[in-house]
Amino acid sequence: MHDLVVRHGKIVDGSGAPAFSGDVAVDGDKIVSVGGKAGPGRREIDANGLLVTPGWVDIHTHYDGQVAWDPYLSPSSWHGVTTLVMGNCGVGFAPVRRGKEDFLINMMDGVEDIPTETLNAALNFEWESFAEYLDVLSRMKRVLDVGTHVPHCAVRAYVMGERGAANEPATPDDIAQMAAIVRDGVRAGALGVSTSRTLLHRTRDKAYVPGTFAGVDEVLGLGRALGQAGSGVFEMVTDVTGPDADLEWMARLSAETGRPICLAAAISSRSGMRMPQILDFIRRNNANGSHLVAQVAARPPALLMSLQSSVHPFSTHRSYRQLMTGLSLSERVAKMRDLGVRAQILNDQPAVREEQTLAMVSHFEQHFPLGDPPDYEPTVEMSILARARREGKTPQELAYDTLLERDGRGIIYMPLAFKEYSFDSLRPLLMDSATILSLSDGGAHCGVICDAGIPTYLLTHWVRDRQRGPRIPLELAIKRQTKDTAELYGMRDRGMLAAGMKADINLIDFDKLRLHPPEMVFDLPANGRRFVQRVDGYKYTLVSGDVTYENGAPTGAMPGKVVRGLHADGE
Ligand SMILES: [Zn+2]
Repeated sequence: MHDLVVRHGKIVDGSGAPAFSGDVAVDGDKIVSVGGKAGPGRREIDANGLLVTPGWVDIHTHYDGQVAWDPYLSPSSWHGVTTLVMGNCGVGFAPVRRGKEDFLINMMDGVEDIPTETLNAALNFEWESFAEYLDVLSRMKRVLDVGTHVPHCAVRAYVMGERGAANEPATPDDIAQMAAIVRDGVRAGALGVSTSRTLLHRTRDKAYVPGTFAGVDEVLGLGRALGQAGSGVFEMVTDVTGPDADLEWMARLSAETGRPICLAAAISSRSGMRMPQILDFIRRNNANGSHLVAQVAARPPALLMSLQSSVHPFSTHRSYRQLMTGLSLSERVAKMRDLGVRAQILNDQPAVREEQTLAMVSHFEQHFPLGDPPDYEPTVEMSILARARREGKTPQELAYDTLLERDGRGIIYMPLAFKEYSFDSLRPLLMDSATILSLSDGGAHCGVICDAGIPTYLLTHWVRDRQRGPRIPLELAIKRQTKDTAELYGMRDRGMLAAGMKADINLIDFDKLRLHPPEMVFDLPANGRRFVQRVDGYKYTLVSGDVTYENGAPTGAMPGKVVRGLHADGE
């Protein structure tokens, strides 16, 4: 008698092999058989008409704050994610010195837009070292598995204090101390080390995060620590430029240590190489013993501008600020509907000097109303600029009216890197073995981004709905979100449906799988806000053999554990 049998499903096992029908049997936290007819189970789930897949493994999140107060890690767990990796891009909360906690909070607020007030209210900093941090994480209950990186910014601030925060060069002694922390962190179970080399990442006080300009000796020191530990991924966000030619040292480091390097190319004012060049470089070097991989997302990161967001086309206008400061949403909506106020705001200009922010609030050719269902790959005709022309309005008028829709909950979608008004050039990247699916950024950018539902979007848009060009085969899409991501991080116990693997499973009503429009909720500690995105179609999600969600509702089961790397102590 099995503990659980999933009957008659359409099984997509994560290997990339063609789907087949049959049963999946589970004993305890493991899968014992896949396909064919299984013997009886104490519990049986009829999966007739459902997809049966491995749980999603999401490797790029920033739940470092939320993990402290939310056992559900929503919205990722709503979207079938059963394992997530946090501590990306160099930011995180360990190690930390007593009295220096504020620095890490300020950094997380600045880089990832997680409110300081929320983090202050929720984090108790019961740790100093990274190993102590992992132990605190292990004691908490949660619905899914989490793993994390040792974040370089925190390590640098810990070892070098003010000098580290001010981005002064590290001495050989500093580097040795940082490397020891990384090595010990990975030995304690961290899944790697992460760092940030982009000008986009600043603390709340607008300082570049520690390590942004770290010398090659420093990053090599961190990477060699992974080599010594024999485990872990080197994750980084980078502008892919600089005097040190980032890619060159990465290739060298990876070949020397055997450790994978997982890079997210940011687009900042100093950005160098673009994706096709980066992939050429990766292919060339991987053929010679490096293991580099570029992070890509199933859609480009996008700003969601609304009256509740951090930014919208009128948020910097002096008139808007004067009239609206301190007002609730409904009060602002009432005021904005007043024709005199409308004229005053529409006649005003954005009060920003910074080029990037100005572009953000005024590039109406790249602004799109986001409706229900949300269309994330709109045509040029759908832009606020094009629509305003057709409707005989100014783009400002149309933007204003869009924000007022649904009682002030209307959303203007602004994808970054969408100059071609199409994802045609993204598709080959998503299917390329030199890339890895990533960048959902769950838990972060609370006031203006909501991409945590990207694993769902991969299925709804790329496998099922896309009309504007070719789609992606189901089996490949699922492999990319399960086996490929799990394997990169050395998590060989998951990512596939096969006998002996962990029973992390999604049962999906594929025809009914549907993303709702993003919505702002105010459920963070200290009344912080965040965008979430709801979803229909996940009938069951299992983690370690326990049903955690049934028909979209949590069951209360909390089987989640901290994923510790293969070489962690005690394993
Ligand atoms: Zn990140």
